[in-house]
Amino acid sequence: MLEKLSARRQQTVLVAGGAGFVGSHLCDALLDAGHRVICVDSFLTGRPENVGPLDNHPAFKMITHDVRSPLQIEEKLDQVYNLACPASPPHYQADPLLTMMTSVAGTAHLLDLAKQHGARFLQASTSEVYGDPEQHPQREDYWGHVNCTGPRACYDEGKRAAEALCFDMLRAGSVDARVVRIFNTYGPRMRADDGRIISNLVVQALRNEPLTIYGSGEQTRSFCYVSDLVNGLMALMESGPNPEQPVNIGNPGEFTIAELADMILDLVDTRSTLVHRPLPTDDPQRRRPDITAARELLGWAPKIPLSEGLPRTIAWFAQDLGLSRRSRLK
Ligand code: NAD
Ligand code: UDP
Repeated sequence: MLEKLSARRQQTVLVAGGAGFVGSHLCDALLDAGHRVICVDSFLTGRPENVGPLDNHPAFKMITHDVRSPLQIEEKLDQVYNLACPASPPHYQADPLLTMMTSVAGTAHLLDLAKQHGARFLQASTSEVYGDPEQHPQREDYWGHVNCTGPRACYDEGKRAAEALCFDMLRAGSVDARVVRIFNTYGPRMRADDGRIISNLVVQALRNEPLTIYGSGEQTRSFCYVSDLVNGLMALMESGPNPEQPVNIGNPGEFTIAELADMILDLVDTRSTLVHRPLPTDDPQRRRPDITAARELLGWAPKIPLSEGLPRTIAWFAQDLGLSRRSRLK
């Protein structure tokens, strides 16, 4: 039934969504660890330049495919990571049906593929399954507070359905499926037009534009640097017994959006000021992961605080936007 993986053997790993922000860092880390990587992506929100440098890597293969359709892979797969899904609210709300079907049909197709190959499966779920949480911090046994008819539902409910599919396949003994609940992650390779908070505020500061604060700015988020997240994804995929529960991966450091804006204004040499905009419908008021499970089951904890990750991210955006790093970072 469930194949036992040998840590010493080179694995053939499929990464769906591998041309995206997180997925491309995961592809890099898997190749660095000596694995063979097959990246599957439709380039809906992913960027060719994220994986361009891997084009000539002998252990890397790119397949352009939309996971809403089934796929066949001839090579024997050992592991399947499913990161395919637009993740930023403006992007996932642009075509809600696509978002929902990417999570539901896409996850079903990839689970089926993992079953055919006897491969381990890891689903990139989200803290959004907790909705606007009534429990704080959020533990994995909290069932959440999601509006199933609102504009965020295509993402939140799609991801919840995908989790249900994973645990059904696990209970049936069909796939060794594992689920990570990812909390807000940031770092190099986010798109300048991504629409999420860190990319928006950093790009606005670098361009001397007003920093857009939605609502009062008193809502909170907990920000995880991308390399910490990638380590967590690989730790869960490679851990011995299946934990048979979702695992939160995130940085418990919690900041208001106003505090984050102040940090960015302190770091960037900018003339930007703050401007307030309406709070989007169903915007969660606060969010912080309880990472006890990740610590105990995986020995995982984040290493990069916001005070370290933010300057690195600003420097990367300055370069990506063609600005000189020295002229922009204080
Ligand atoms: P991203 O938008 O940069 O990456 C998503 C990738 O999936 C893109 O390359 C996109 O082209 C691809 N994709 C989308 N729909 C597809 C489809 N139907 N078929 C094939 N490919 C498709 O976002 P990200 O931040 O890198 O997020 C990666 C995963 O992690 C997503 O599943 C997201 O839901 C999850 N996640 C991310 C965060 C975060 O803060 N970054 C938080 C929670 C969950
Ligand atoms: N946000 C903001 N200004 C922006 C973008 C986002 O104030 O330019 C707020 C948003 O309303 C939310 C928080 O920042 O309260 C995080 O938003 P993001 O889209 O990054 O992620 P999510 O809401 O999915 O956690």
